[in-house]
Amino acid sequence: KPAQKTVQDYIRTIPDFPHEGIMFRDVTTLFANPRGFRMAVDQLLHPYAGADIDVVVGLEARGFILGGAIAHQLGKGFVPIRKKGKLPGRTIEQSYTLEYGEAVVEIHDDAIEAGAKVLVVDDLLATGGTAEAGIKLIEKLGGDVVGCAFVIDLPDLGGRARLEGLGQEVHALCA
Ligand code: IMP
Repeated sequence: KPAQKTVQDYIRTIPDFPHEGIMFRDVTTLFANPRGFRMAVDQLLHPYAGADIDVVVGLEARGFILGGAIAHQLGKGFVPIRKKGKLPGRTIEQSYTLEYGEAVVEIHDDAIEAGAKVLVVDDLLATGGTAEAGIKLIEKLGGDVVGCAFVIDLPDLGGRARLEGLGQEVHALCA
C-alpha cells in the first residue's frame, strides 16, 4: 500500500516565476485537492487546540483562503490585511522593504479590538517582511498575536528567526 500523501506532496514548484531564478512554491494544487486542503487546515490549527483565539488574520492573498477556513473551523471571525488601496473603510498602514523597493499593507482601523488574541495566517514565510508588517498593524490596534501559522517556511530566508526575534511563535507544516 503506498504511503499516504503529505501536505508537501500536494505543493508544486514552478521554476522562474515571477522572474528568472525564483523557484515559486505553488499551493494552488494543495488548495484544489480536497484531502490536501483539509489536511493543511487541520495541521495549521493543530498547535492551537484549546488556545484562546478571538480572531484570525489572513495576509493577502493566499492567507485569505487558509485563514477563512481556519476561522470557520474555530468558529471565529476573519480579518484581512491587504495591499494598500483595496480596503474600503478607514485604515492604518505599514510599509516594509522588499528585495526591490517597498510595499504597503493596510488593515481597517476598527477590525481588531484592543486585547484581542490574534492568529496570523499565510501560505508561505520567506524573509518575514510581510508577516512582520502584519504583526505591527495588529499590535498598533492593540491586538495580541498569539501565533503565526504558515504552510511553508523557507528557513534559509530568515523569516522564522526574524519573527521569533519579535517574540512570536511560528508554526509551519513544511520547508
Ligand atoms: P516574505 O515577506 O519575504 O516573508 O514573503 C512572504 C510573502 O510572499 C507571502 O505573502 C507569500 O505568499 C509570498 N511568497 C513569496 N514567495 C512565495 C512562493 O514561492 N510561493 C508563494 N508565495 C510566495
